[in-house]
Amino acid sequence: MPLTKAEIINLLQNETEQNQLFKKADEIRHQYVGDEVHLRGLIEFSNICRNNCLYCGIRCGNNKVCRYRMSEEELIETARRAVALGFKTIVMQSGEDMYYTKDRLCRIIKAIKKFDVAVTLSIGERSYEEYKAFREAGADRYLMRIETTDKELYHKLDPNMSWQHRYECLLTIKELGYELGSGIMVGLPEQSIESIADDLLFLRDLGVNMAGIGPFIPHPETPLAKEKGGSLNLALRTMAVMRLLMPDINIPATTAMESLHPEGRIMALKAGANVVMPNVTEGEYRKLYELYPNKICVNDTPAHCRSCIGMKIQMIGRQIGTGYGGYKKAS
Ligand code: SAH
Repeated sequence: MPLTKAEIINLLQNETEQNQLFKKADEIRHQYVGDEVHLRGLIEFSNICRNNCLYCGIRCGNNKVCRYRMSEEELIETARRAVALGFKTIVMQSGEDMYYTKDRLCRIIKAIKKFDVAVTLSIGERSYEEYKAFREAGADRYLMRIETTDKELYHKLDPNMSWQHRYECLLTIKELGYELGSGIMVGLPEQSIESIADDLLFLRDLGVNMAGIGPFIPHPETPLAKEKGGSLNLALRTMAVMRLLMPDINIPATTAMESLHPEGRIMALKAGANVVMPNVTEGEYRKLYELYPNKICVNDTPAHCRSCIGMKIQMIGRQIGTGYGGYKKAS
């Protein structure tokens, strides 16, 4: 649906009529991607990161974090168990941990692909050769949020990182034939509504196959501890407008939304979202991958999370997707 920047800004600002926006996004979701909700099993395999993003709880400068990384065997075993629970996509997410070299990751990807699942990587910025090798090893999709398209803000929040480089990585990933997922945080300090409108237009122009939108939640052990953080409603409106702009893409109900409200993901599923990414990380690691505080389900098991979200989805009259749940272009 074509929308001008001014129209997007109006929709993002209009809190009083947001229910109409949610309803419209829900209709478009139903019409273009149907009633199936695709589940992705999310494995948080390392919280070691070379970057120092001001918003992120696992930034390298946070020395209060107890760091972990799964071994190759542990990671593959976690994936095997998630597949046994019925997941058809495994998402491998971590900080930018260079212990996982190209060869190591390729071995892991090949092993997980043998379980007959789609594999998504979410491991940040790598070289062209690495992205190419991961793709050849069988990785199907890649998730990397641009976080914000306000370059000045980006450079304040992600010191030593380059917005242009991140953007070029996204172009490379797309060119290599991955399904591309990107997205933003909403409610970053100094982020304006106009800038969020620019972000949405950026994601549309980039032609993403998936767009993840979540509220920024201040972490107490970061320089942004005292900031206000994003509101659930603004995050939901941003997500709903994304659905209007790109009717046929995959849009997750993000974990950060549920961290602000116990029904956050269900609210999102009723306002344009069609994907949920339950955490399938096991044991202590779940707590230690603390991007932001009050992360949900840190004491639960993967099996519990799978059945809990399954019930919630059924209660709103939707079905769990039975296929890989990849992007399908609307005809
Ligand atoms: N290293 C990978 C994965 C990053 S963690 C990469 O660079 O892509 C996944 C996402 O969590 C980030 O892209 C960011 O959008 C989100 N995130 C990090 N800190 C957050 C916070 N404090 N509140 C909300 N979301 C956060």
